Amino acid sequence: MTLTLAFLAALLVSLGLKLWLAARQIRHVNAHRSAVPPAFAEHVPLADHQKAADYTVARVRFGRVGAIVDTALIVALTLAGGIDALAALAAGWFASPLAQGVALIALVGLVSGLVGLPLAWLRTFGLEARFGFNRTTPAMFVADALKGAAVSAVIGLPLTALVLWLMGAAGDAWWLWAWLAWSGTSLALVVIYPTLIAPLFNKFTPLADPALAERINALMARTGFRAKGLFVMDGSRRSSHGNAYFTGFGAARRIVFFDTLLTQLTPAEVEAVLAHELGHFKRHHIVKRMLFTFGTSLGCLALLGQLVDAPWFYQGLGVGTPSHAAALLLFFMALPAFTFPLTPLASRMSRHHEYEADGFAARETRAADLVSALIKLYRDNAATLTPDPLHSAFYDSHPPAALRIAHLQQGSPR
Ligand SMILES: [Zn+2]
Repeated sequence: MTLTLAFLAALLVSLGLKLWLAARQIRHVNAHRSAVPPAFAEHVPLADHQKAADYTVARVRFGRVGAIVDTALIVALTLAGGIDALAALAAGWFASPLAQGVALIALVGLVSGLVGLPLAWLRTFGLEARFGFNRTTPAMFVADALKGAAVSAVIGLPLTALVLWLMGAAGDAWWLWAWLAWSGTSLALVVIYPTLIAPLFNKFTPLADPALAERINALMARTGFRAKGLFVMDGSRRSSHGNAYFTGFGAARRIVFFDTLLTQLTPAEVEAVLAHELGHFKRHHIVKRMLFTFGTSLGCLALLGQLVDAPWFYQGLGVGTPSHAAALLLFFMALPAFTFPLTPLASRMSRHHEYEADGFAARETRAADLVSALIKLYRDNAATLTPDPLHSAFYDSHPPAALRIAHLQQGSPR
């Protein structure tokens, strides 16, 4: 009963916080809609600034609906008896408890996926299309959803079966073994993702522009960075938003540019954006983030190791018949409600990393090129230049444009 009340309170506090921050963001962005901030006035036309304001507000409104639907789904699955009902269904299909457990988790995944699908459809063909960003066709949307479900099943079902088996067979320290299985799978995915999974969704072609390739190779030689190839991804098939990223690990490491990024930016700007990404590697942000994830998941599983045999844990979250599968589901559904208020800590760490990567890019290329690239990316992606400071501090993985550019302009040695 105490747990039920605490869980409901955490859900309501989290949802209330989300809605309050959303309202603040909408108010702040609308209040600054009528004029481009002076620092950007030269480069961003008023019409683009107003489009960014409208797009930001539309996205926040959409996110508000998503937050309400998510909360309702969690209540429906837990306290309202959804997991119990699906467990009864799975029990009718299979005799073995392990198969029942895998089926229960798969059913919950399926229900969550189906609930999310209409929202994803509306975001793609409503919101994104309205602002001219969407290039996905309904046929591609359906194919992506099916492929996504297939990939999740191929990877998720065996891992689920393994973890459930460990919970029954590995004794009191099962959570340590489960953590090893999960971490090992995550690492394996990082290795196979670029060559086996990403090509299911996009085409990757080697970078064809010799002048740009030469520039990038020179940057990599200068900074002592090795990668197995430069690739261009046909991001424009789905959306006109641009990006650049690294993928893979060690020998499988690749640099990937969205084709949209290459058409938006000059070669010098592409180099500066890439130098920023290299900065994340050079400052060990990727490894730090992974260690952080592995550390927190070990802590979470250790905690679950304590809860799995406690009847109050199941009763308090609305499950009448305890099982290992139900424990996993309840834990990972209830936990985010309690940890959501910690979001700003992760956001702050991420923004700190962005500043460090910008500093690296400013040293290895020209800060002015990264500044002009950022302004173009903000403009072309209709990202707001005037976020609510509190909303930004809470959620944003990247510093607000004005602060980030000021930091680049102050700190640049060239
Ligand atoms: Zn970054």
